[in-house]
Amino acid sequence: MQIPRLHPDTVEQVKQRADIYDVVSEHVVLRKGGKGFVGLCPFHSEKTPSFSVSQAKQMYYCFGCGAGGDAIKFLMELGKHSFSEVVLDLARRYQVSVKTLEPEQRQELQRQLTLREQLYEILAIASQFYQHALRQPLGQIALDYLKSQRRLSDETIGQFGLGYAPASWETLYRYLVEQKRYSVQLVQQAGLIRQRQSGDGYYDYFRDRLIVPICDLQGRVIGFGGRTLTDEQPKYLNSPETELFSKGKTLFALDKAKTAISQLDSAVVVEGYFDAIALHAAGITNVAASLGTALSLEQVRQLLRYSESKQLIINFDADAAGKQASIRAIGEIADLAYRGEVQLKILGLPDGKDADEYLHTYTAEQYRNLLASAPLWLDWQIDQITTGRDLKQSTGFQQVAQELVKLLKKIDNSDTRNYYVSRCAEILSLGDARLVALRAENLLAQIAPHHQRKPTPLNTKKQNSQGKSFPATERSLLEHAEALLLRIYLHYPEYRQAVSNALEERGLQFSLSHHRFLC
Ligand SMILES: [Zn+2]
Repeated sequence: MQIPRLHPDTVEQVKQRADIYDVVSEHVVLRKGGKGFVGLCPFHSEKTPSFSVSQAKQMYYCFGCGAGGDAIKFLMELGKHSFSEVVLDLARRYQVSVKTLEPEQRQELQRQLTLREQLYEILAIASQFYQHALRQPLGQIALDYLKSQRRLSDETIGQFGLGYAPASWETLYRYLVEQKRYSVQLVQQAGLIRQRQSGDGYYDYFRDRLIVPICDLQGRVIGFGGRTLTDEQPKYLNSPETELFSKGKTLFALDKAKTAISQLDSAVVVEGYFDAIALHAAGITNVAASLGTALSLEQVRQLLRYSESKQLIINFDADAAGKQASIRAIGEIADLAYRGEVQLKILGLPDGKDADEYLHTYTAEQYRNLLASAPLWLDWQIDQITTGRDLKQSTGFQQVAQELVKLLKKIDNSDTRNYYVSRCAEILSLGDARLVALRAENLLAQIAPHHQRKPTPLNTKKQNSQGKSFPATERSLLEHAEALLLRIYLHYPEYRQAVSNALEERGLQFSLSHHRFLC
């Protein structure tokens, strides 16, 4: 194997970022066709297109001349460039920082590459071992659990390679080290065994657990999740971080979901392995599961590269803890969502159910309908802020107003922001249509005082003298007067001190809590 002088991190990042469609479409006119795109092959002369590009697979292939490969291979073949040249070029284009390797590092890399290949091999063998154990008498309890509690068919169990880790301490150790003659060190590096604390000997990492293999995008096993069948804690145990497995960078079942994600142009993320498995078994296959961590930017990028319009639906548990989990789970993607780079929706299932439980009572069709009507993330956030709050009480009103302002402030796109300002204004008006415009103006003033240049549509005097829009009740007059004063306060910093002084001298205070909050 030829070792490039580029650091593998650089190569990996370039592969992650460079989308095959982006790269090829700069050189070939592509149009939608089949599951991907088709065009005239640049590698042989033809009149009807036999050259196809699949975003789901991140590959191109020509049915005419047999040319095929990934984005890097395409550019290498097209321009007769070397691997390093192409990667460097793409790194510049996608703003990936370039790291290179010294000669001694290259030797180390060669060693690592060999190590990775050996680890893939051991993990594949371990996975087969677990699957075999599931079908033995000692695995009966696990098989019963899968079939009765999880209602999984043999087909699904096989498709996901589910298995059982025997209860005794050294079963897998003996199989891999004594029978298959793998080195102890290597088996340990695969995360399959642990050294005893006494330092004397090793024991299996997973014992008496149901085993769920976790695969990379190519479908190779890189780690396992183990669910206890007893009361033992933790309920779910993942492989330790290894050369191949990193929890924060992996999504369970994405290898099986990517084609459906690109076909349906939308990805669903659930919390647990069995939620994902149950949905796949029910025919809803654009689903991957986070591994019990907040969704990282890297995980989301992986998902979104298969969805053209960047649609992501998060379906985490809907109980009280689950809602907090959803908020945390959004974590790093919040920024993407505020910038409009991901069309994020949040699905909460009725009765606090998770997807697996839901499918025990309801049909796949019903779940699909819920997916289709899942609220956009901002609507969901607004719901979270207002639910259970009494807007008629001043403290409730103030809290909600403050939180809504905080939310609105973060929305980058001005059209989106204006839309949600109106929505929030409606909520804060409590059904009194006459208040909506005023509330909207208050919100706008609070979220971006310097952006608001429009002359006021709510000239109190005019409208009240005509007696149309605003009946001159004391309440609304007061509110308008205060709003006007506030507007002066916000837009003309030079008058701020004067306004404060005037209020203080007269012992006055704004009567409305959301006004007091500002001044
Ligand atoms: Zn061709």
